Amino acid sequence: MVDKLNLRKLILFLCMFSVAITLLNAFYTVYRVQKELILSNTMESNWVYAEKMADMTDAFIDTAMSQLNFSANILSKKIGDTQVLDNEVERLRLQTNAFNSVVVVDSKGTIIAISPETLALKGVTLKQDAARQSLNARAPLITDPFVSPSGNYITSISHPIYSEAGEYLGYVSGTLYLERQNILTRLLGKHSHQDGSYMYVVDRNKTIIYHPDKRRVGQVILNNEAINAVVNREDGYGDIVNSQGVDMLAGYAPVKNSGWGVIVQKPKNNALNSLNDLMFLVFWKGFPIGVLTLMFIWGASILISRPLWQLASAATKIGNYKSTISDLNRIHAWYFEALHLRRSFLNAMGVVSNTIDKLHSDTLTDALTGVLNRRGLDKTIEQFQEQNRPFSLLALDIDHFKKVNDTFGHHIGDELIKSLSKIMKEEARAQDVVCRSGGEEFIIFLANTNPTRAYDVAERIRRSIEAYHFDTVGNVTTSIGVSHWTGQEDSIHEAIKNADNALYKAKRNGRNRTEL
Ligand code: GH3
Ligand code: MG
Ligand code: MG
Repeated sequence: MVDKLNLRKLILFLCMFSVAITLLNAFYTVYRVQKELILSNTMESNWVYAEKMADMTDAFIDTAMSQLNFSANILSKKIGDTQVLDNEVERLRLQTNAFNSVVVVDSKGTIIAISPETLALKGVTLKQDAARQSLNARAPLITDPFVSPSGNYITSISHPIYSEAGEYLGYVSGTLYLERQNILTRLLGKHSHQDGSYMYVVDRNKTIIYHPDKRRVGQVILNNEAINAVVNREDGYGDIVNSQGVDMLAGYAPVKNSGWGVIVQKPKNNALNSLNDLMFLVFWKGFPIGVLTLMFIWGASILISRPLWQLASAATKIGNYKSTISDLNRIHAWYFEALHLRRSFLNAMGVVSNTIDKLHSDTLTDALTGVLNRRGLDKTIEQFQEQNRPFSLLALDIDHFKKVNDTFGHHIGDELIKSLSKIMKEEARAQDVVCRSGGEEFIIFLANTNPTRAYDVAERIRRSIEAYHFDTVGNVTTSIGVSHWTGQEDSIHEAIKNADNALYKAKRNGRNRTEL
């Protein structure tokens, strides 16, 4: 019974299970929604940032180009004036502060002016194809990165110089030293982030021309989705794996007039770190409510299961129906099923108890007279003995009863016994107990009565029987023996024997009398 799964455990288990599933589901949903939100927010803000940076770079290149254009106009008239050339390159470099160096190259590819002069390249002729891109183009150009004669890894923005007659005279160009401090690092590099996000710039050939990690400048990246998209002049964002194999949340935007692309990205793991913190917070914020809920469920499961548990345990003790009934009455049946079960139980127990009581009293009662029979007499003796209650005892026998039987028949004899017992009960007091000890013999217990008083009672009974006129039979007499039990000393059966002896004495002394 105790080890068996019970209702409370079942309710508890069910509720715990439901709560756990609900909480886990809620937790998982929060996790997923937050994760989506963080990922898309991060990518979108990277995209917006990349666009801003691309616009800024665009604006810089526009400005640089128009400044070079302005210089080209001046130089087209004074290409032979060394002083003008030197002044112009110096002015361009220092005034705009946009270039690491400024050069003027003639139509043969020979450097005819340079600032800063410390580079000492004046008179040097550019030979390599990479260095001669601007010459070949004869048009405004942003070159691919190349190694300059002075050994710097550079990209240059150049503008052609034409004479008024339209003859190509060379070009003026400003350079960016990609591996050193340059205008891009000043423009873009200010925005460094603690959270691992960073920005880099590629040119139209997927060569990195700006990167916070200087060692990566000059690398060509072919397998990066963001770079592939941005050199196709697309902008957008995506969850990509970069060339280093790191999962990145990238936003990208092209720099329109140069064909370059700006990519802003953040490692996915870094972005999701904040999610872990958030989930930890959600857990701890939800913890007290969770504990309260579980405690509430625990209490409720006790309240719900208790009436049924009590009903069940009352049912196990059904042998002792009296205590079962009192147990049932104590149960607080506060809901429909428990209430009706208890009511039905109590009704059933009531029927059982009445039936048993009836059967019980039947076994102790004499069917003919309705007074206690021999078994009832024994029971009465037991009770007196248990309580040590003193009593007096009358043993009564009808005189010459055989004659009544013989004269009027057994049936009339029975009627007489019945009528006599009625008189005895009427004459006896409420606390006295009348028993039919056998045939036409009776024993009457008189509780807490001394022998003298008992004698008086016996005489009163005897006389009222004597005075009574019975139907058919007429007058009848009885003999009575009286004895007393003090409540301790000798056995009760001794007292009964004494009463019998007294009765015998009464018979011997002529009947219709009482003897002590
Ligand atoms: P005594 O004055 O000496 O008592 O004479 P008695 O005739 O009454 O003698 P006793 O008490 O010995 O007789 C008992 C008779 O009572 C015997 C039996 O026939 C009769 N008797 C016993 N029980 C019943 C009964 O239940 N019904 C009837 N009708 N007669 C009974
Ligand atoms: Mg007799
Ligand atoms: Mg008799």
